[in-house]
Amino acid sequence: MSGMEMTEQVLAKVRESIRNAKRSAFYRDCFADIEPEDIRTAGDFERLPFTEKDDLRRAYPMGLCAVDEDEIIRIHSSSGTTGTPVIIPYTRKDVSDWAVMFKRCYETAGVVKADRIHITPGYGLWTAGIGFQAGAELLGAMALPMGPGNTDRQISMMIDMKSTVLCATSSYALLLAEKITQRGVLDKICLKRSLIGSERWGEKMRRRIANELGVRLYDIYGLTEVYGPGIGISCDFECGMHMWTDYFYYEIIDPKTGLGVPPGEVGEIVITTLEKEGAPLVRYRTHDLTREMSGTCSCGRPYPRIDTLIGRSDDMIKVKGAMIYPSRADELLTQVDGVSSEYQIMIDHLNGKDIVTLFFETETADEGGRGNIERAVKDSFKEKIGITIAAKAVGMGDLPRSEKKSTRIFDNRY
Ligand code: ZN
Repeated sequence: MSGMEMTEQVLAKVRESIRNAKRSAFYRDCFADIEPEDIRTAGDFERLPFTEKDDLRRAYPMGLCAVDEDEIIRIHSSSGTTGTPVIIPYTRKDVSDWAVMFKRCYETAGVVKADRIHITPGYGLWTAGIGFQAGAELLGAMALPMGPGNTDRQISMMIDMKSTVLCATSSYALLLAEKITQRGVLDKICLKRSLIGSERWGEKMRRRIANELGVRLYDIYGLTEVYGPGIGISCDFECGMHMWTDYFYYEIIDPKTGLGVPPGEVGEIVITTLEKEGAPLVRYRTHDLTREMSGTCSCGRPYPRIDTLIGRSDDMIKVKGAMIYPSRADELLTQVDGVSSEYQIMIDHLNGKDIVTLFFETETADEGGRGNIERAVKDSFKEKIGITIAAKAVGMGDLPRSEKKSTRIFDNRY
């Protein structure tokens, strides 16, 4: 059992949420055999089937709608790589609940009414920009609905309007930081804080953005299927993101087995909405990897915390009891001098044991030098991922270039 505690109060809300969800064509069909009254314990709940993004796609366009369509005041959509989008309908309460959560995010990040919030995520079917906007307005701060792009205009508005809070993706925040530094206008920038949309981003990047912009950074979490960004955020103590669990219940599961992982262990976050009317979701698999943070935060907020996102479960491979995912390997290798960006990980099963071999390209040609880099890579894997690997240096251009950039881990065990 990990994630939140399934109390009687939460169970009652879950039952109500299932009752509401079953008013949609989608859940009426796939929960046909499930009665809310039968969900009496955490165990009953954990036996409910998961909902996947592909399931939601099949409900296109309005199969998720759990209220009379007249009650829907807005829709959002999350695109997919496969074509059919997912449509999420929102009632007035859903839109208002989302703004309340977002306002709470701003407050947690120390943003106040006097602040000027520079919003660079896009506006449109996607939930990004408009969520930041609604929260800012509810807080009573001044919103600058910039949207993405046109970096020159972003910077001049930032200077002229004295923006104090920057909302952006990590890559856009970095781009802005670089441009501001290049132009030598940092002394004209009034930014104090930056809210960065949740995605995996490395410590190096974090430090660069914080230093170059002179801001304090906050990680904000969310996904279109569950309101949008703003369902959780990190606080001044930078020890994970507080989750607004009065609006949803979350679990952290082993993506392979579907069972809850022990507290503190990495797994996939699964969300059940507790208050949503337009499109309630039961056990929705986010595929975001994180872990539960233990104890109470020093800020005193009662909301539980999850760690900054570690990656996507779709990319993860379990070996020797440890998880390997490309994002983690990428980051680890960038910290070893002499290793270039190209690498491959081979996992084989020999004589009853899993063997992990990591090939990496290096410009170092002499054998002694290569040996030192190999040892550094091996030590780093042992220390940070907890597994022993064989590291093999090869020359630049020796590894095959794949069309799909993500194919770096080859699991030959099955
Ligand atoms: Zn806190």
